[in-house]
Amino acid sequence: MPAPGETVDPSRVHSLDPDQLAAAVTAALASITTATDLDALAAVRTAHVQGDNAPLVLARRELGALPREDRADAGRRHNAARAQVQAAYDTRLAQLTAERDTRVLREERVDVTLPPARRRRGARHPLSSLSDRLVDVFVAMGYEVAEGPEVEHDWFNFEALNMAPDHPARSMHDTLYVEPAGSGRLLRTHTSPVQIRSLLARDLPVYVVAPGRTYRNDAIDATHSPVFGQLEGLAVDEGITMADLRGTLATFAEALFGTGLSTRLRPSYFPFTEPSAELDVQCFSCHGETARQPCRVCSDEGWIEILGCGMVDPNVLRAAGVDPTRYSGFAFGMGLERAAMIRYGVREIRDFVDGDVRFGLPFGIED
Ligand SMILES: [Zn+2]
Repeated sequence: MPAPGETVDPSRVHSLDPDQLAAAVTAALASITTATDLDALAAVRTAHVQGDNAPLVLARRELGALPREDRADAGRRHNAARAQVQAAYDTRLAQLTAERDTRVLREERVDVTLPPARRRRGARHPLSSLSDRLVDVFVAMGYEVAEGPEVEHDWFNFEALNMAPDHPARSMHDTLYVEPAGSGRLLRTHTSPVQIRSLLARDLPVYVVAPGRTYRNDAIDATHSPVFGQLEGLAVDEGITMADLRGTLATFAEALFGTGLSTRLRPSYFPFTEPSAELDVQCFSCHGETARQPCRVCSDEGWIEILGCGMVDPNVLRAAGVDPTRYSGFAFGMGLERAAMIRYGVREIRDFVDGDVRFGLPFGIED
């Protein structure tokens, strides 16, 4: 305060007046307190703490204009005011910075316990993969892929395949018939009707491989299922012999079980082939050396039976309109589940029909 009688330009010392300083401090503190984030506080800093036009900054410039005797008092007042504002500003800055850091941490936190958002890939069914692999082996040998209906006519499923209505082999097929009774329609019991359909529909020579689903009235247990897959093959050409059959199947067995394994044909019987045989392949696990160790894959047989085959019966060729005096052929058929069970060590056939993706995953995603 100027002493009475002193001449001080009131406009020049106005902002250093104690009331004015107190008002400037009050305004600054109010603004600092109400700043709710760092951007707002930065604006307060310019307006009240350090900006060129902040009242306390302007006031400081006026110190020099005071008479020497007043300067010390005014300087102390001004310093106290600035210190109070600066302290409040620093405290608020620390608060808002801490709040901001906490919020950023929370918002940007990665919860490592959450499952990944991506979808798990499924797996192809092991039978589909195996079927495709086997078909590829034959396609590479020049075969075409053929298909037929799963609801088949009796004639294609039995009669044309040399099984007349009274043929005893029919009873082994446990056929599922389609209503109404006497319709002649059934769920095909094997893929062999595709042989007949292929011969009727295609020009000779015919080399086809036919994978597909077949049905029999079997209760499901560890090794039987009312629905199962087969792979059928047929070659009809001039001059086809049993040696062609044997060479073809040896190539096929190699693709399925690996190289270096012997194959053998054992005499058998099927109505639609003559002669007929079972193809055995040397056990891929023990290589036939069962004397050294027990083998679960082949039950110590040393050999694994993998398919039935034979030379196409002339009656079958005739039924399909093919002249058996000019053409001959061979055919073979195998159960896909059985092949997969042997190859992959699957113990329960029902695993193939349960549809549990966990069963398929270990076989890998081949395609
Ligand atoms: Zn073995």
